[in-house]
Amino acid sequence: MPDANNADASADPGSLRTPIVAVLGHVDHGKTSLLDKIRGSAVSEGEAGAITQHIGATAVPLDTVSSMAGELVVADDFDLPGLLFIDTPGHHSFSTLRARGGALADIAVLVVDVNDGFQPQTEEALDILQRTGTPFVVAANKIDTTPGWNPNPKAPVQETYEAQTDRARERLDENLYEIIGQLSDGGFSADLYWRVQNFQNNIGVVPVSAMTGEGIPDLLAVLMGLSQRYMKEEMEVDLAGPGKGTVLEVKDEKGFGATLDVVLYDGTVEEGDRIVVGGVEGPIVTEVRALLRPRALSEIRTEAEFERLDAVQAASGVKLAAPNLDDAMAGAPVRVVRGRPLEDVIEEVEAELSEIEVDTEDEGVVVKADTLGSLEAMANALRESEIPILRAEVGDVAPRDVAVASTANEAEHRVILGFNVDVLPDAERELDQQGVKLFNDDVIYQLVEDYESFVEEREREQQ
Ligand code: GDP
Repeated sequence: MPDANNADASADPGSLRTPIVAVLGHVDHGKTSLLDKIRGSAVSEGEAGAITQHIGATAVPLDTVSSMAGELVVADDFDLPGLLFIDTPGHHSFSTLRARGGALADIAVLVVDVNDGFQPQTEEALDILQRTGTPFVVAANKIDTTPGWNPNPKAPVQETYEAQTDRARERLDENLYEIIGQLSDGGFSADLYWRVQNFQNNIGVVPVSAMTGEGIPDLLAVLMGLSQRYMKEEMEVDLAGPGKGTVLEVKDEKGFGATLDVVLYDGTVEEGDRIVVGGVEGPIVTEVRALLRPRALSEIRTEAEFERLDAVQAASGVKLAAPNLDDAMAGAPVRVVRGRPLEDVIEEVEAELSEIEVDTEDEGVVVKADTLGSLEAMANALRESEIPILRAEVGDVAPRDVAVASTANEAEHRVILGFNVDVLPDAERELDQQGVKLFNDDVIYQLVEDYESFVEEREREQQ
């Protein structure tokens, strides 16, 4: 006989977790402003507990989305608890944040400046969304800059759009349809969101302004609808079960030593839980000493600003304090052991870590990146450009890396490509002495481009 309590997990609203949302797009197109505005609007909406500030994330509950989006959301239709926005915008953090072999984020917002259209990082973000099969909507941002635009943050953006003078609307349309055309060149059929019937096969474009707040309730409503209709199965998790998460960052915290900022996407983590975390040298087994969250909306700066929790349930962002976390890696998995043999959990973590092993060759460049996911993204980009890799590791550029790079036979391979990493002072000196060239950037395509022009330059010089 099936257990009545477990027969239909989807019937129990407690077993649905919050969808995790990432914000991607080209630099300066307004990712940070959009996140700030979502937080600000939710707060100024006047709801008590309108949003909850997590570590590395912001939770917007369903009732807040409903009260903001009003007629756009029929609350009865929804049983997902809300939306959890990852606060670190950018597609690098997105590709870094893996879970279960895919993307940590369930859905994404691709921010495009209406005046600027598609730019290299927009294309890069689109590639990543396509590769990971992540559903997304496009926020066509900065509509307030349209000449003659008459803003109305209180109304649904479709109404505002239709109420413009023909001249203003035509000007915006020109930009919007360029973006829609560019999406279609990328193989996505897209349209203004109120004309889209099926968001699974079509990309909804939401005109927004992170400045005036126009379109933001619409954006939240579309994200809720998208998750509710097409992603719900992924949100059915065992909320009471052992927690599963991804490390956003490893940070030293006064009074706690090395701590982990984690996004929990499944289950529960409790104080005292034994956990397994991916580390530079392999899985680390340790025990949760404290679970921390920022107090209210404050910036997290000091120990005193943290609030201690007994337990945290998915989906949430939380800081874990535990011994022996110095070697933990950003982007690595975190697993609570509770109720399972430790060896099984270690094996799971090992399996997830080994997914990200990079193919290396006998001759090639040295790659250093800040997280596992960015290392993988770098390796993919280099493979696409047919640049061979001798060694690829997470971590800052150390003298050892320079020594390895200096062994290359070809001068064009006596190179270190660093993504978002620091250079240790000793390594700096070694670079000069060993004649190893370092490229360090936080934009992948820039690194690849810089490296390629360096190689071309060398070839020209030799002719
Ligand atoms: P990010 O690099 O994608 O995070 O972009 P930011 O959020 O830092 O925004 C880049 C610049 O664009 C800043 O100067 C913002 O004030 C401005 N900006 C962002 N959104 C809007 C908008 O909707 N309207 C206008 N007029 N300016 C915006």
